[in-house]
Amino acid sequence: MPDKPAESAGPSFTKGMFFGQVLSNLVFPYPKTPEAERELLQMTSDAIQRLEKDFDLQRMEKEKRLPPEFLQKMREMGLFGLIIPEEFGGVGLSNSGYVQMMSELSMLDASICTTIGAHQSIGMKALLLFGTTEQKEKYLPRLASGEWIAAFGLTEPGAGSDAGSLKTSARLTPEGDYVLNGSKIWISNGGLAHFYTVFAKTKHPDGKGGEKESITAFIVTRDMPGFSNGPEEKKLGLWGSSTTALSFENVRVPAENILGQAGKGFKVAMTVLNNGRLGLAGACALGPRKLIQMARNHALERKQFGFPIADFGLIQSKFGLMTMDSYVGEALVCTTAHLMDQGDADYSLESAICKVFNTEAEWRTVNECLQIAGGTGYMAEYRYEKLLRDSRIFMIWEGANEVLRLFIGLSGLQGPGEQLKEVSRALRQPMQNVLGSIGVLSEFGVRWFQRKVGATEKLQGVHPELAAEAAVFESYVARLAAASEAILRREGKEIIHNQFAVRRLADTAIDLYALACTLSRASRALEEKGVEGAAIDRTIAKAFCRKSRRRMAENLRRMRKNDDSLEKQIARHVYEQGLPQHALFQ
Ligand SMILES: Cc1cc2nc3c(=O)[nH]c(=O)nc-3n(C[C@H](O)[C@H](O)[C@H](O)COP(=O)(O)OP(=O)(O)OC[C@H]3O[C@@H](n4cnc5c(N)ncnc54)[C@H](O)[C@@H]3O)c2cc1C
Repeated sequence: MPDKPAESAGPSFTKGMFFGQVLSNLVFPYPKTPEAERELLQMTSDAIQRLEKDFDLQRMEKEKRLPPEFLQKMREMGLFGLIIPEEFGGVGLSNSGYVQMMSELSMLDASICTTIGAHQSIGMKALLLFGTTEQKEKYLPRLASGEWIAAFGLTEPGAGSDAGSLKTSARLTPEGDYVLNGSKIWISNGGLAHFYTVFAKTKHPDGKGGEKESITAFIVTRDMPGFSNGPEEKKLGLWGSSTTALSFENVRVPAENILGQAGKGFKVAMTVLNNGRLGLAGACALGPRKLIQMARNHALERKQFGFPIADFGLIQSKFGLMTMDSYVGEALVCTTAHLMDQGDADYSLESAICKVFNTEAEWRTVNECLQIAGGTGYMAEYRYEKLLRDSRIFMIWEGANEVLRLFIGLSGLQGPGEQLKEVSRALRQPMQNVLGSIGVLSEFGVRWFQRKVGATEKLQGVHPELAAEAAVFESYVARLAAASEAILRREGKEIIHNQFAVRRLADTAIDLYALACTLSRASRALEEKGVEGAAIDRTIAKAFCRKSRRRMAENLRRMRKNDDSLEKQIARHVYEQGLPQHALFQ
């Protein structure tokens, strides 16, 4: 199914919240699996589950690679073409269907899921989103069958989160080809792939008689002279997935291999990542399900102090939180995948929220499952330690979570910032542009006045059983908007240097979007199953609302009163003088 870039001009639920706006129709009603895909998804899901019996998954840990027979079986199942349109030989799943399959694969094994994700979520995503018909016809059939595997080459030794600072260069020759020189590091599928989406710096006229450097995305194939990949990296987890460096020594790439426009490659990279993050988020939402089940069985069977450990409050608290995380995480991913499929909404912040929430929830869950299993959890014989090692990377790649929080907070603030600028401009020149000023002032003024008198925009479509929780959502949207406006008035554009504040606003937005998706999911369950049938949905929604409300209250309170300067002082001390002398043996 063709996708739209994440950051379109369409409405965004999360950006709206920074204005105090509630765009209920983007989140309600809770989506259902498209009827046309239901049977296909069920068949693929059954086949993926059968792989657990067919594959000796331990072999990947021993051999530290994906055995060729596994790869062949994955090809035969069509797993490499899940998201490629049928006309090019793929399965043509919607985003919702793809995310569901990534979740199924994550329950099987994180390395297998990574191989498929690096291929489809990012490796060939630019070809799908920006490729010409000729490029698609040339490459997609082989990528759909898995004859060729794809990889995404952005990271370099000096360019990680700051991807724009990459150094790999592509020089235009008089014949119209490009010559690539440079290297990439830590590329998933690096040693397996034949098709690479590679980002390199190109020179362009600056319009003033000189030249400027921009980034361009290229298709590079393994058979091009001068291309090579390094040895497999030794890493903490994901031992079955290939991770290598890539090297380009005078690699000649024809201009027809440019993806999108020359010089617009940074946008290509960011669009791919915005879009691809949801696959990872889906994988993290369901990845630990089997582990929770194992921890549950362990807790019910294991007796200490004369009782099953499941009876102890501190263990119950862990199951409560893990189940809540998983319910909320799934609600976030399903809602956002549906937004992508609808095609007219801007889902860039929503997919970042899904990635941050689900990667952190998975890490908490895996850690807690291992804790419940005690010493057993630490033993390589069981699944706990492997998933702990495998899942640590998820908070780092496809946008490190710190950087994504800044993206969510600062992108959210952009809207009110623009409006404030217009308001102050309008107030400065009230007579010069009377009609325009009235427009700006009235829209802004209405929202400002609404907040002052405590009136909020309503979340439409919530089941009456959850009316109190909807009211919490509405009131915190108004508070987020008020806090955003206040900090913008106080700090203006200097806000970009106040990461403490931006993080608090981002965390509030994350909690609010998660709450809206949870209320949507629980409302549908209540409508379909009634209050008794959906008792657990109701309880989880209420519990998550209480927890997130406390977090939001704390985050917004700390916008003014906080310990930020003390934390900075301590950090500065450590940077300049090292850690304080330790207290032992003094
Ligand atoms: C197993 C594995 C597979 C990978 N696969 C791929 C792949 O297929 N393709 C690819 O291109 N790359 C891949 N990567 C690279 C990955 O995307 C990067 O590791 C990631 O982007 C982070 O970059 P970095 O490691 O250089 O960390 P850095 O950017 O150096 O960040 C280090 C820390 O600083 C924080 N930080 C950075 N900037 C800021 C800021 N402005 N404000 C606050 N905090 C900040 C980060 O959040 C992080 O905690 C892979 C990495 C690994 C380990």
